Parts: sequence; structure tokens; C-alpha cells
Amino acid sequence: MEIGGLDSDGRTFRNAEEMWTEELGHGDPHKKSLWYNKGINYWQGVEATVDGVLGGYGHVNAPDIKFASTGADCGSGIGRVTKNLLIRYFNEVDLLEPVSHFLESARVNLAPENLMVSELHKAANFYCVPLQEFTPDAERYDIIWVQWCIGHLADDDFIAFFKRAKLGLKPGGLFVLKENIARAGFVLDKEDKSITRSDSYFKELFNQCGLYIYKMKDQKEFPDELFAVKMYALTTEMPRQGNRSRPKRTTNRPAIIR
Ligand code: SAH
Repeated sequence: MEIGGLDSDGRTFRNAEEMWTEELGHGDPHKKSLWYNKGINYWQGVEATVDGVLGGYGHVNAPDIKFASTGADCGSGIGRVTKNLLIRYFNEVDLLEPVSHFLESARVNLAPENLMVSELHKAANFYCVPLQEFTPDAERYDIIWVQWCIGHLADDDFIAFFKRAKLGLKPGGLFVLKENIARAGFVLDKEDKSITRSDSYFKELFNQCGLYIYKMKDQKEFPDELFAVKMYALTTEMPRQGNRSRPKRTTNRPAIIR
């Protein structure tokens, strides 16, 4: 690998191999255990505090944990998915739900005193609106979560919703659609006016929305009498094929760029 580097005294190395040979020798187990012992010894001498583990940069804790992530919970009902999942991962979650008594119950369930997450996380907005009438603010969301409600939308509204909602995603953001799946075709429920679509029905609609499947997962551990459930992670850009690895920074605490 022809990637040059530096050490903390400012000395330069032509490449990583030169540095590793100096640090570890040629497969010398003694030198390697010195390397690791020195790492552990360093940390053993550090106080067990946030400031300690962040190398004196305790004040970057808040922005480190809070990376201004925002989620939307569509057809949120009483806020079950937000409460058990989304609020842990996003600083702000907006809920939208057309049935007002569900939304009111979500407000209570997600009141700060009923949440077991840090004060950096909160349910931000409660919108009483159905998906076919919702237009998100531009680039607000990292994730738009749509669980067990898209069956209420007619195909044209399904497509129009996702096309509008795409503009509400931040660059790199995604949709998660978790839904019941019919074995083939669709199953219409005449009582609640919803349809359960098959996997290929969904794929045809994703296509028409200009959405790509980034990942797909089957629900496990559900009773046999229930519909199969799938989770689709959908992106607006065609996922890159093959080697997805990106160069990673290899530090384990905040450090000044040299
Ligand atoms: N996603 C929640 C609730 C699922 S129940 C959860 O997983 O717990 C289905 C929800 O879809 C109900 O709250 C219902 O009011 C809502 N819903 C019905 N029609 C809708 C529509 N047109 N747009 C958005 N949500 C709808």
C-alpha cells in the first residue's frame, strides 16, 4: 500500500509498511505484545470519565452523540414504533397519523417523562394527517419509517406519496417500509379498506416511484397464521454494486488532525 503517513512527533513515513516494520518488526511477537501492552497501559492511566475517554475533549460528547438525526414515523398509531425503536436512534422523530385519538395517545406515550432516553431525544412534531396528504419539509429526514399503514393507500397515492416524500429525505437518507406480504397478487380487506400486496406488486410500485431496494429482510418469529412480513430499505439512488468499503479513519477517540 503506497499511502504515506505521519507520527505524533511529525515524522513522515513513506508508506504504512515502513511504519509497521519499525513498530512491529517482521512478525516479532515480542514487539507486537509491547505494542498492545502500551495501548492498554495508556488507557489504564486515564481517569474513567467522559473527559478521560475523549482525550480531554469531553465537550465534543454532545455533538458526537447528537448528530442531528431525524426520523419520521408514518401511520404511527399510538407511537409504538417510535417509542420502542426510532426514539433511541434519532434525536427528533415526527409522527404522522390521521386518527386523532391514536395521535393523542402517542403524545402521552412519548411525553418526556414517559421516555427512557436522554433529553437529546424527543418526539418533535405530531401531525394529524393521512399519508396521501402529507408533504414533508425538504431534506428533513434521515429515515422515513412506514409500518403497517401503506396498505390503506391506493396505487396512485402510494406512488405520489413516495415521490413527494423523497424530497423530505436528506442526501443518503432512506425509507423503511415494513409490511404484510401476500403470497401472490393482493388480498383486499373490505372492512378497513386496505390491501395486502405481494412482494412483486411492491417491487413494481417501487419501480414506478423511482426507488431502489437497498436491503430486504423477512420478519422472523411471527405466528404462522399471520401474513409474512418484510422490511424494505429503499433509497433514491441506485445502490453501488460490489465493493462498498470506504476508507475508514482509524482513531478511537477525537484527535487533532495533523
Ligand atoms: N405503525 C403503527 C400503527 C399500525 S396500525 C404500528 O406499527 O404500531 C395502522 C395505522 O395506520 C393506524 O394508526 C391507522 O390510523 C393508520 N392509517 C390508516 N389509514 C391511513 C392513511 N391513509 N395514512 C396514514 N396512516 C393511516
